[in-house]
Amino acid sequence: MHITFHGGARNVTGSKHIVQLNDGTSILLDCGMFQGLGEKTDDYNDHLGFNPLKVNYMILSHAHIDHCGLIPKLVAEGFKGTIYCTAPTMELAQILLLDSAKIQQQDADYTKGKQNHEEALYTEEDVIEAMHLFKIVEYNEEYEITPRIKFMLTDAGHVIGSAAIHLTIFEDAKTTQITFSGDVGRYGDLILRSPQKFTQADYILLESTYGDSLHKDLEPIEDALQQIIHETCIIRGGKVIIPAFSVGRTQEILFALNNLELKNRLPDVPYYVDSPLSEKATQVIKDHPEEYNSRVNKIMEVDDDPFAFKGLKFIQSTEESIALNDDPRPCVIISSSGMAEAGRVRHHIRNNISNTKNTILMVGYCEPTSLGGRLIRGDNEVYIFGDKYQVQAQVCAIKSMSAHGDYEDLLRFLSCQDPAQVKKVFLVHGEYDTQQNFAERLAENGFANVEIPYQHQKIELE
Ligand SMILES: [Zn+2]
Repeated sequence: MHITFHGGARNVTGSKHIVQLNDGTSILLDCGMFQGLGEKTDDYNDHLGFNPLKVNYMILSHAHIDHCGLIPKLVAEGFKGTIYCTAPTMELAQILLLDSAKIQQQDADYTKGKQNHEEALYTEEDVIEAMHLFKIVEYNEEYEITPRIKFMLTDAGHVIGSAAIHLTIFEDAKTTQITFSGDVGRYGDLILRSPQKFTQADYILLESTYGDSLHKDLEPIEDALQQIIHETCIIRGGKVIIPAFSVGRTQEILFALNNLELKNRLPDVPYYVDSPLSEKATQVIKDHPEEYNSRVNKIMEVDDDPFAFKGLKFIQSTEESIALNDDPRPCVIISSSGMAEAGRVRHHIRNNISNTKNTILMVGYCEPTSLGGRLIRGDNEVYIFGDKYQVQAQVCAIKSMSAHGDYEDLLRFLSCQDPAQVKKVFLVHGEYDTQQNFAERLAENGFANVEIPYQHQKIELE
C-alpha cells in the first residue's frame, strides 16, 4: 500500500491524497483546487498528476474549494466512483462548485484578449454531472466500501459538515488504520462544536496551516470589528471591504456583528454581503442547527436568527453589486473570495484601494502570493486584473479569526492518540517553514516519525 500526495503538499491549497492498495484499488481523499500560488496555480490545476480513470472511490472531508474544487474536472476526465461525504458538505459543495464554475467563466470573459487571460477549468454542466456521484454518510458510523476497505467520519469542527476521515484497510493479513484530519477546527469555535476524538491510527495525515501560531482569544473579534467599522465608516466616512470565504468566515462575521447588535454596540451603517453564494451558504448553515455549539444554542434562546441584524442586506445581482461602487456613502461590504483572488471582492478592492478613507479588512488565512497575502504583507502597490494600483486604503487583519486550529488545537486533536503506536505523521496542508517548526513540536510531544511530503511524492506504507 502507498500514499501519493498530489496537493496540499508544502502548501495550503489543492488538497488531494491517494491511498492505493497493492491490488491497485485507489481511494482519493479530497480533490481540491489550488489557489493563490501565482503563476504555478493554473499549471497545478490543469494537471492533476494522476489518471482519474484509475481512481475507484473518493471521500471528501469538507466543502471548501481547496478540498473539493477540482471534483468536476476529476469527473469530466473519467472518474466514475462514489464520492462520500456528510449532508451539509454535499449541499455546500454543490453551491460552491456551481459558483466556482460561474466565476471561472466570468473571469475568463473579463480577461479575454488580455495578457493574463484565465481559462475556465470546468462548466456548470460538469458540476451537475459530478453531483450525481455523491453519497451522504453520517458521522461516527462505519461504512464498508469493499471487503478490504472501511471508513468512518468524525466531526472536525472546521466548517459545517466537516470531517476527519478514518480508513481501515485489510491487506497482507493485517489491518492498517489511516486518519486524514481534513482541516481541523478550533476548540471553542464561535459557531461549531469542537473536533472529535478518534480511534488509534497507524498513519495520520495532519493539516498544519497554523502549526506554528497561537490564536488570540475569541472575544476581541467583536471589539476589533466594532472599532474598525466605527473608525472607517463613522469617523472617516469610508467603506470597509472584508474579503471572506462564503462558507464559515462570512457566517462568523455575521454572528459577531449580530452579537454586537445584541449588546447595542453595532455601528449604524448598511452591511452588504455581496455574494449570492454566501447567502446560499448561510441558508445551509441555518438549515443545520444540529451542528451548532452550545454558545449559539444559548443565543438562539433570545434571538432566533443569530446570523441577521439591522442594516444587513444580501446582494444578488451583478447590477446591484456594481451600483455599490457608485454609492459614496459609508458601508461595510463582505464579499468572497477570502484570499481576494477571485469573485466580486476583487472589483470592490480595485474600486476602493486608492482612497485613504477606506479599509480593507482581512479576516482569514491568505497564501502569501495571493492579493490578500500581498495586502497583509504591506505591499505599496498591487496588480488587480493585470492593472497596477497604489495601496492608499488602510489594510487591517484580524488574525484570530480562523476556521483552522492553532498548534495547541492540533496537538489537542492528537491527544487521543498513543504517539508510540503512530508509525508516521504526514504533515499536509501547510507552508513548508511552518511544517518544519510544527514537526519539531510534534517530536517534543512524542511523535517521533514525522514526514513532510512534497508535491506528487509517493510513499510506501509498511
Ligand atoms: Zn477548509
